[in-house]
Amino acid sequence: TVSRLQGIPPTIFTTMSALAARTGSVNLGQGFPDVDGPPEVIAEAVAALQGGANQYAPGPGVPALRQAVAEHQRRHYGLAWDPDTEVVVTTGATEAIAASILGLVEPGDEVVVLEPYYDSYVAMLQMAGAVRRPVTLRAPDFRLDLDELRAAVTPRTRFVLLNSPHNPTGTVLSPDELRGVAAVAIEHDLTVITDEVYEHLTYGVEHTPVATLPGMAGRTLTISSIGKSYSFTGWKVGWATGPAALVGALLSAKQWLTFTSGAPLQPAAAYALTSAADYPKELAASLQARRDLLLTGLADAGLPARTPDGTYFAISDITHLGWEDATAFCLALPERAGVVAIPVQGFYADHPDAGRQLVRWTFCKRPEVLTEAVERLSAAR
Ligand code: PMP
Ligand code: GLN
Repeated sequence: TVSRLQGIPPTIFTTMSALAARTGSVNLGQGFPDVDGPPEVIAEAVAALQGGANQYAPGPGVPALRQAVAEHQRRHYGLAWDPDTEVVVTTGATEAIAASILGLVEPGDEVVVLEPYYDSYVAMLQMAGAVRRPVTLRAPDFRLDLDELRAAVTPRTRFVLLNSPHNPTGTVLSPDELRGVAAVAIEHDLTVITDEVYEHLTYGVEHTPVATLPGMAGRTLTISSIGKSYSFTGWKVGWATGPAALVGALLSAKQWLTFTSGAPLQPAAAYALTSAADYPKELAASLQARRDLLLTGLADAGLPARTPDGTYFAISDITHLGWEDATAFCLALPERAGVVAIPVQGFYADHPDAGRQLVRWTFCKRPEVLTEAVERLSAAR
């Protein structure tokens, strides 16, 4: 292994989805819906393919999508970005994360980041030579401790990498927590990179983009994508918005990663944001009902989970069950019960004990699939 990748385990999602396929298990591991997004959006993609959108798109993205993203940020959040210089299209949020880190972070820079980590953050920060400074969200509440945040900042800190709604905990950072982050960022002149791919998937609470707080728009790069909001996780169409200097830095790395992102899905994504603007809200309502179905079933199966305010995910603490750790539990679960879940331990790269007994379940599946899973879990109890 090259040193750049040393110590980074293979992504858990590949391992667990392969295990699900091999054992015929119900896969509540990797978060992807089993019902696709709106058919009329798919029709737009087909029309774009047949209509000749098959050559390189402009580097920063197809203008219609950059405009649609700018309009989305304005309509939902009152944020005004110039589609020509302050919006960039990427190959999923994943590339936006990679390119922003590669384009902004110097080797040795310290980055304050919420732990548990979505796994690509750990890999990209290491590849960029950055130093992680964790702020740990702990069971049972997974709230942000502002004292811990302040203590994580040193003179070498340059960035805060945020994720809200947060994968895997389901925490949606509150306006108070975000004000705390903003105060620290402003006091220490930090740039904030924020992953908001679950922005529309909240249940009874509002998502607040950190860029909307006073003093923050000029120092924040906001990342999202079509995958979660429109149930097209396989499309890998993402974007970032923010001041031209931050977007330009991302673009300067992106041009050498992919040069430009896939052309035919971009007009379809633009169509989704403008002409299927109500879909994410309907999806969230449907996910909330499925969240509740899963939570009830898990409680009945002796695996009670905390109620998440956002994302696709709920976490059970299995301390009372007598397993050595959640990884052993999740590796045995397919044989024992025919269900796959994700051990959260690996997301706590710096404090593995904090995630030792935590198991993540996704509820972005059809109700009958969730019912089948919890019946299997009850039967294996
Ligand atoms: N960030 C988080 C927190 C995620 O959960 C995901 C979903 N895999 C991504 C980024 C990646 O998004 P995309 O598929 O658009 O690259
Ligand atoms: N975001 C999804 C999850 O956390 C998918 C992750 C992935 O496929 N890399 O399950």
